[in-house]
Amino acid sequence: MSLATRRVPRTSMHGWGASGGLLFKVLPLNLPYPVRTGVPERINMKILVTGGAGYIGSHTVLELLNAGHEVVVMDNLSNSSETSLQRVAELAGRAPEFHNVDLLDLAGMKELFVSTQPDAVIHFAGLKAVGESAEKPLWYYQTNVAGTLNLIYAMEEANCRSIVFSSSATVYGEPESMPLVEKLNMDAQSCYGRTKEHIEDMLVDLAASDDRWNIALLRYFNPVGAHESGRIGEDPSGIPNNLVPFIAQVAVGRREHLNVFGNDYPTVDGTGVRDYIHVVDLADGHLKAVDYITEHGGLHTWNLGTGNGYSVLEVLHAFEKACGKELPYKIVARRPGDVAVSYADPSSALADLGWSASRDIDTMVRDHWNWQKNNPNGYEEQ
Ligand code: NAD
Ligand code: UDP
Repeated sequence: MSLATRRVPRTSMHGWGASGGLLFKVLPLNLPYPVRTGVPERINMKILVTGGAGYIGSHTVLELLNAGHEVVVMDNLSNSSETSLQRVAELAGRAPEFHNVDLLDLAGMKELFVSTQPDAVIHFAGLKAVGESAEKPLWYYQTNVAGTLNLIYAMEEANCRSIVFSSSATVYGEPESMPLVEKLNMDAQSCYGRTKEHIEDMLVDLAASDDRWNIALLRYFNPVGAHESGRIGEDPSGIPNNLVPFIAQVAVGRREHLNVFGNDYPTVDGTGVRDYIHVVDLADGHLKAVDYITEHGGLHTWNLGTGNGYSVLEVLHAFEKACGKELPYKIVARRPGDVAVSYADPSSALADLGWSASRDIDTMVRDHWNWQKNNPNGYEEQ
């Protein structure tokens, strides 16, 4: 299926009827995908997904297509490959439209909005490695902050004022209390985290200046897992920074052992505790958020986590159960900047969006393993 050329008609060109605030599809005819009839449906939108070829982006694109939205992906493929989108197209039965554009190319971004006219944006594109951000801070500010500014200018010019932004639990920094609630002050401890803080601040100021903007700031906890098909998943380049991708590479024989960063934290077994969330639950949170902001307007900040914490060793043992073998590990020094414990209070997302994570840690590692064992070298050809 060709990604660049296949277009589907905008569903908003078909008829829609409104009744008592509910929107009903009135012309579900000749659509290129199955639609449920007889039940109220939300208006399907044309959604531009920046960074849509990446890990969280590709899973979200799949869920958007499955929900009947029309999807345009823009990505410069600096940390991803088009194969992810080809596989998304196989799974969804239709392809997203793909544009290789760099966030830093303002003219290209403006052109993209003129040619595609999206109704809303989900903004994943950016750089995300904490260690690298300390070594190359200007590159991180340029890509994440200036890149987002370019995106906003292009949106403004195209009269598209709905955006869901990928923030991170890392903005909470050294937590004042646990669980983490959205009203806590931001106090990111890394350059990467501060780029997220700056973008959040920028979007808050924008919303305050112009109430036509609809904005969701989603603070992700620790995304892991993969689509249950095992066809798409996380494909880190180089040595994985994050725990679960590292464990997965030990399990598949690409790494000798896991280094456990510290076992003297005040936790159940001394190792760090985090709130891991299945990437498909996370993707689903984006669908709910984009629906919510386009219906209610305003700026909203939501944690996307499960509310449960698991230690490094608990995650390792869950993975061992999933892959059916013991995985070697060594206890090493703490990693600088790590906090002992971090988990979400996800109650705002439940109250406002009706969203909560449904997949448990065993499902997360089972799906992560299924992806890794079927794709030992990620998207690279065997
Ligand atoms: P990813 O690297 O897999 O996806 C990011 C995508 O953005 C990649 O496909 C990359 O090619 C693209 N990209 C990078 N720079 C670009 C540019 N200048 N122009 C156009 N495209 C560009 O990362 P991910 O894990 O899917 O994360 C997505 C977003 O979620 C990021 O903003 C990240 O900071 C945020 N986030 C991720 C995590 C996590 O643990 N994965 C946690 C919290 C927040
Ligand atoms: N961790 C570890 N070994 C690794 C990677 C991570 O022991 O190779 C630990 C880390 O110290 C933390 C937890 O696993 O306690 C989650 O780390 P990750 O980098 O995945 O997420 P973050 O620290 O950004 O929440």
